[in-house]
Amino acid sequence: MSYLTKSPWIIHYDASSCNGCDIEVLASLTPLYDVERFGIINTGNPKHADIFLVTGSVNEQNKEVIKNIYDQMPKPNVVVGVGICACSGGVFRECYNVSGGVGEIIPVDVYVPGCSAKPEAIIDGVVKALGILDQKYKALKEGGGSN
Ligand code: SF4
Repeated sequence: MSYLTKSPWIIHYDASSCNGCDIEVLASLTPLYDVERFGIINTGNPKHADIFLVTGSVNEQNKEVIKNIYDQMPKPNVVVGVGICACSGGVFRECYNVSGGVGEIIPVDVYVPGCSAKPEAIIDGVVKALGILDQKYKALKEGGGSN
């Protein structure tokens, strides 16, 4: 990861999660699993974030929020869909108010399956996302664009 010269920061948004995946995201961030050991910190400000972690499925009420957060993030960035709801809508995909997974609204770089997604899988997804972020930085530096 030669182009990542700073600690990448995460912003976490609960689209319409049952809270199961969010508890696992918090477990990943806090001392038991401790994603901070990779220099990754949770921020509430999309303008400071490189990694967008989304849990839950997309619906009419949250799709503009997801897009708004994503649009405020500096480029390049990466998006990680956490849990099967974020991947495809999961068990709620047939519901009248569910449009599907996060990929319906914004480009997703890494999907982390599971219901709920395990902290080990979330950390694995974030590490994969860091590799993709590095490639995007490299492409940007070489003039090839990003995202
Ligand atoms: S994937 Fe499962 S645990 Fe996660 S938000 Fe959906 S229903 Fe809840």
